[in-house]
Amino acid sequence: MSKWVSRPDDVDALVEKWADEFPQYLRAESKTQYGGHPVWALTVTDHEQESDQKPAAMFFKPHAHEPAPIAAQMNFISQLLTGQELDGTPTALPREEILANTVLCLMPDANPAGTAAAPVDAWDGSQYTNEEFWAWMRGIDPETGKMWKRVDLWDDTVEEPLPLRYGIVYEQISEHEYVEPNRHHRSSLFRWILELRERRKWDRMLSLHQCEFTGTVENAMMILPCLYDEQPAELQEMESAWARRIVEAWEEVPGGKPRQEIAPLGYTGQQRQYFVDRWGEIYKDSAIITSEIRNNSLPCPPELQQALNEKAIEVTVAELLDGN
Ligand SMILES: [Zn+2]
Repeated sequence: MSKWVSRPDDVDALVEKWADEFPQYLRAESKTQYGGHPVWALTVTDHEQESDQKPAAMFFKPHAHEPAPIAAQMNFISQLLTGQELDGTPTALPREEILANTVLCLMPDANPAGTAAAPVDAWDGSQYTNEEFWAWMRGIDPETGKMWKRVDLWDDTVEEPLPLRYGIVYEQISEHEYVEPNRHHRSSLFRWILELRERRKWDRMLSLHQCEFTGTVENAMMILPCLYDEQPAELQEMESAWARRIVEAWEEVPGGKPRQEIAPLGYTGQQRQYFVDRWGEIYKDSAIITSEIRNNSLPCPPELQQALNEKAIEVTVAELLDGN
């Protein structure tokens, strides 16, 4: 297995080392979240070449209970910068071609304070049941002992009752306020995405997630935007073909069991409304798809979680290189 780097201190140390060693290829920018950690936006390209006309992709990881996309992004960046995976294996990627011809912005961890509060580096299914895991995710409801609720923003001077332990999915943004990073524009994630969109056009955006796949043997799936049916035909075609190519690539990963169906996000009610309100404008002009890799499950160990995430990133970059 390639080396797993997901803890904020380890991520920060590597980013700072790379920024010193590879200034031509890496621009490391950060916003400091309320908890004090830097939230990195890492732009990887050959910065000595004019980049406005290069195709560009953005990668991000909203949720702190889903660490494999951090490990995958760090290993991917390592290959582009150093020519090696984090464990020293020479890369198989066409790194010079990628650096010369694409602009990639990776946000390996949108909520490092949440990641730092997790009890494990990787959820491998050996220590926590899914119910225990979900209570780490959203917090412990004092009345049921199970997971607390999922809301866009909450204030611990207003909520009643409060969770016994605060869930790591939430990002603290002020003394008393917490947001779900994927569901509120005051999160570090959205502050970055909105700023990056002001700077240039992003041809593709890949949102990296993990979920539990309860009741199936599958371990990976692609999801289209909840407003897919209302997007321009050109974006629909781009998203569908890109998602299909990722699913096909996952079948070649040893242990990969991707879901064949590729469909728009199926949420209803309030959860759907959060996406419509916070992502609706972005869906109008951007190709954006979501990958989900199985989490907290013995049959999908951390190295497979990492490999499947990395494959989704690699295919996205290949789409840029192919001019699709
Ligand atoms: Zn997620």
